Amino acid sequence: MLAAVLHEFGQPLVLEDVPRPVPQEGEVLLQVGACGVCHSDLHLIRGDWPAFAKLVKRPLIPGHEVVGKVVELGKAVAEDLLNETVGVSWVFWSCGHCLTCREGRENICQNRAITGVTVNGGYSEFMVAKASHVIAVPNSLSPAAAAPLFCAGVTVYRALRNAEIIQGQRVAVFGVGGLGHLAIQIARAMGTDVIAIDVDDAKLALARESGAQHVLNSEKENVAAQLRDSGGVHLALVATPAKSAYDIAFTILRPGGAVMIVGLPSEPLTFDAVKLARNEARILTSVVGTRQDVRRTLALADAGKLQCHFETRPLAQINEILDEMHRGTLLGRVVLVP
Ligand code: ZN
Ligand code: ZN
Repeated sequence: MLAAVLHEFGQPLVLEDVPRPVPQEGEVLLQVGACGVCHSDLHLIRGDWPAFAKLVKRPLIPGHEVVGKVVELGKAVAEDLLNETVGVSWVFWSCGHCLTCREGRENICQNRAITGVTVNGGYSEFMVAKASHVIAVPNSLSPAAAAPLFCAGVTVYRALRNAEIIQGQRVAVFGVGGLGHLAIQIARAMGTDVIAIDVDDAKLALARESGAQHVLNSEKENVAAQLRDSGGVHLALVATPAKSAYDIAFTILRPGGAVMIVGLPSEPLTFDAVKLARNEARILTSVVGTRQDVRRTLALADAGKLQCHFETRPLAQINEILDEMHRGTLLGRVVLVP
């Protein structure tokens, strides 16, 4: 089968013919129908996050937004999974018995296997997955429309849910990329007022299409002053890895407001603790989501409230796509169709 393989950090992926994997006990074989290209794939392939790079299996087939058809079952798998269209998220497998699993936080399971990081992912024609961790895709969604919801979608869904925002509050979304444009839609579905901030007018147009009531170009406007003058925000969700976005986000909160860390800069963040503490501002983080979060995200899409802006491209173009992602020229999500 054809796969895009990471051998060395910082080098292009190699398109090669590799053996089709065989599903073991409790596993299924998927014929990959679509795999989204996530910004963290780019960081992983470039070796940008050293602490993270240690986890990476090599050689590795990346890709953790996978939707495919179950074409073969390993032992001890329910027969009704055969021919089903299912998806695989970042959490390839979680143990179910560690402290965080028992708290219902399987997304941070201490023994987890991570799709396209510690085990092979979906930049290929076939992939194995754990039968216990694949999630059915609603019939209303094509594989390419559903795939980005398995990371980009669920990540911002959980982030907004963890931030405990309520109807009528104001949410600023920094960065209108794959995650940001989905965050805008989910925040709107939650009944909040959304301001989107980016440096690119095409992305701000996508923000408007996604339902943002206000958009600001941080290269042309003084975003911090405008947001402070209009009363600040309850939540600043930062979906870009740009440190400059965090520098603004920490200064525009209403009393009791929160910054949600989603985009991950490689340099440390700085903030004025006195200014934050005096108004009991909070700094929150969130990482991908649980199976239940994925199901809820898919349900929003099934109900027509969440739609990923995507384009499909062949697997063979992966290195060009990663270059474009690095230059910031992609709009929405690129989904590989093997
Ligand atoms: Zn991702
Ligand atoms: Zn666990």
